[in-house]
Amino acid sequence: MIVEPNGVIGILGGGQLGRMLSLAAARLGLRTHIYTPEDHSPAAQVADAVTIGDYTDAEKLKSFGDLVNVVTYEFENVPAETVDILAANNIAVAPGGKALAIAQDRLSEKEFVNALGARTAPYHAVYDLASLEDGLKKIGRPAILKTRRLGYDGKGQTTISAGDGDLSLTWDEANKKAWEEIGARPSILEGFIDFAMEISIIGARGRDGDIRCYDAPRNIHKGGILRQSIVPSAAPDGAVTEAIAIASKMLEALDYVGVIGVEFFVENSGGVIVNEFAPRVHNSGHWTTDACAVSQFEQHIRAVAGWPLGDPKRHSDCVMENLIGDEVERWRNLSREANACIHLYGKRDALPGRKMGHVTQIT
Ligand code: AMP
Repeated sequence: MIVEPNGVIGILGGGQLGRMLSLAAARLGLRTHIYTPEDHSPAAQVADAVTIGDYTDAEKLKSFGDLVNVVTYEFENVPAETVDILAANNIAVAPGGKALAIAQDRLSEKEFVNALGARTAPYHAVYDLASLEDGLKKIGRPAILKTRRLGYDGKGQTTISAGDGDLSLTWDEANKKAWEEIGARPSILEGFIDFAMEISIIGARGRDGDIRCYDAPRNIHKGGILRQSIVPSAAPDGAVTEAIAIASKMLEALDYVGVIGVEFFVENSGGVIVNEFAPRVHNSGHWTTDACAVSQFEQHIRAVAGWPLGDPKRHSDCVMENLIGDEVERWRNLSREANACIHLYGKRDALPGRKMGHVTQIT
């Protein structure tokens, strides 16, 4: 299947990723049609068309599907039901429902990665306080308790300390507090990894099975939110080679079409541990717009449209920094700087913790 110029790519989700996908598609002469439940979305501002509808509105999804050549998503929490409704109407969705289903559940994600022979943090499925205690016995402290579903940017997770936390609490009380903090929902307990650095692989697989990966950025998180991606990463070559091999194996196993973002912890020994993956373009790949001939956004559009993948080679070193909340005001000074590529997402309210834009400094 090839979507030719003037064809339409349907995108589920209206956030900044959909916006940047739309901009990349437009450069290739392709149109985008955004499907989102939100009234005012960053993607709708730059897309050819928008449908405002609920992700489970079968009628609206069908009408949307009739107007597009292929559907992709920019938001990994699209309900599995949405993809089923589209599939029942013979509408092609890429990447497929399998990647979406696995990535939506941290337990299936860990099982999938381990089944491929790659490593994750030690983990234990938690359903209640008793299974949390069993997990802590098995994994030890410190550990991180994460909800299985719907967590993002450090939300839906809490650290269970090694005893240096709130000393007024007994361990039983501390466990109860952690369990309540994540909403007493099905979760997984993860061992705390003492990593040397975090890197990610932004990889793509085309409809012809071709796989291309970008250089690995080093990612700096604060409070669970990505702050900076630095390229080159200064990770040992062996770690990057192993991470690329793992990401490629994942793309094959999922029979994937499109861009994937796989996050890794690099150990002091140089080994790599998979943290998680996102079945979509990824924040740690935003730098590719300014430092590569073909960005992750164009690469994703090329893949889902059945075009050959582009060359992911990096032509510049760079540092990408997220502008979060009122940091977006930095645009005033940044706009005076040479080599600062500013990207603002068109969001009105600079709420705390909200990703408002990013800047890529070419170094
Ligand atoms: P996540 O939402 O799972 O990607 O977690 C957000 C960030 O929290 C990661 O990028 C790490 O910086 C940190 N983190 C998550 N899980 C672990 C872990 N098992 N060990 C150490 N740090 C972690």
